[in-house]
Amino acid sequence: MNAVRNDLNVSPSTLAFLDRPKHLLIGGRWMPAASGKTFAVIDPATGREVCQVAEGDKEDIDRAVTAARCAFESGPWPTMTPAERGKLIWRIGDLILGHLEELAEIESLDNGKPLRVARVADVPLAADMFHYMAGWATKRHGATLPISVLYTPGVQYHSYTRPEPVGVVGQIIPWNFPLLMAAWKLAPALTTGCTVVLKVAEETPLSGLRLGEILQEAGLPDGVVNIITGFGETAGAALVAHRDVDKIAFTGSTEVGKLIVKAAAHDLKRVSLELGGKSPNIILKDADLDVAIPGAANAIFFNHGQCCSAGSRLYADASVYDKVVAGVAEQAKKIKLGHGLDPDTQMGPMVSEIQRNRVRGYLEAGEREGARAVTGGKAREGAGYFVEPTVLVDTTPDMQVIREEIFGPVVAAIPFKTLDDELIRQANATVYGLAAGIWTRDLSRAHSLAAKLKAGTVWVNCYNIFDSALPFGGYKQSGWGREMGDAVLDNYTETKAVTIRL
Ligand code: ADP
Ligand code: MG
Repeated sequence: MNAVRNDLNVSPSTLAFLDRPKHLLIGGRWMPAASGKTFAVIDPATGREVCQVAEGDKEDIDRAVTAARCAFESGPWPTMTPAERGKLIWRIGDLILGHLEELAEIESLDNGKPLRVARVADVPLAADMFHYMAGWATKRHGATLPISVLYTPGVQYHSYTRPEPVGVVGQIIPWNFPLLMAAWKLAPALTTGCTVVLKVAEETPLSGLRLGEILQEAGLPDGVVNIITGFGETAGAALVAHRDVDKIAFTGSTEVGKLIVKAAAHDLKRVSLELGGKSPNIILKDADLDVAIPGAANAIFFNHGQCCSAGSRLYADASVYDKVVAGVAEQAKKIKLGHGLDPDTQMGPMVSEIQRNRVRGYLEAGEREGARAVTGGKAREGAGYFVEPTVLVDTTPDMQVIREEIFGPVVAAIPFKTLDDELIRQANATVYGLAAGIWTRDLSRAHSLAAKLKAGTVWVNCYNIFDSALPFGGYKQSGWGREMGDAVLDNYTETKAVTIRL
């Protein structure tokens, strides 16, 4: 055990995990990368190396896809009954809860998020996704369809549909909720009977590896889920390019989403995408400000603003604007930054040096273009990748900080005076369409605004409320398809129509 790990305040089981070799899970076996290469996992609160993981690349992706194909076509997985599959998926949820503390510690150390957040959000929600999806294994069905076939008069047919698994799925996930994103991806793919090659984010590979061990403990047949650690441009790109992958499910930046669509065009792989956002959060003049102000702060500062749904454009009615800005700024000032594993920490560091620099770049661009930070506005000097929670004012619609996703703890507050239509026009004036918030006591107005916002999710008098049963995804450049709910099952299903002449 090295010195860095010695001073980590984590449980013996987490230390034991950190000390195990970090290999790739291919065909039920843990193996080093074909190249033998590894790369460092960094604690973003200190900048220090935690451990090394295998650097998977094209050859490893080839092996993993072969294993996934083999598991899809033969072996126990395709012949397992839906009930057996459902029970197995349920067991995965149970085991995640059984390892809650360890998974929360791993997540906090790897991503930087506060341990207490990982404990109540990331890990239980990941378990819930498996529990929720377990039920669908026995409940997806086709239909019998009465058909007429006008050109064969007098002939009768029996027609029905079969929902079938799409096949071998490549899944690529980001670093903001590493375990939860793995669960959002794996659980529906398993429920529908697909097999998977999962490429976890290079910034946060650890909880995916621990989850791989849990999948084995649950009894998932070999090759059904293969887990590759490695970089996007190499391992990720090889997965997208692979001829024997039927579908890619991706969560990440809109920029990479576009690359994936281009790369998948050569064989018309199915693609689902959950991408960026620049979500408007709207406070009307009749809102209960005691709820709306902390709500607006949480909408942007939760997970350090590293949420695709972050409420990063805060529209407040001009009559309450000053109070809202002062209130959110006060909340921002109170947030205690620190190491995720420190029990007093309310906000950890950005996930990586690159991400810290990216956010700092936006803060500098905002300043250059004339935006003013009421509070925060700087990346912290010293060890770790910390950025101050920031409230910007005096912005204009053409500024980079208004148009682009910052993915950090930076909110721009914007007053509005005019009618609904003007507000809606501004709120919708973005290439994204992931989420939106509305704070008001007037529910009739809330319903009518909710219908006009071009966003996949609208929260009223709340924000960042997620549930396994609720479909989540984007309009416009925020993506294709939906995660969660029964809607996500469509991403992993081919519908076959069978017709029999009687
Ligand atoms: P960020 O830049 O914030 O890390 P990305 O969209 O680049 O967000 O990363 C999300 C996931 O996509 C990660 O797992 C990353 O490795 C992967 N990725 C990045 N570039 C590519 C690519 N060209 N092809 C496939 N996957 C990629
Ligand atoms: Mg990237």
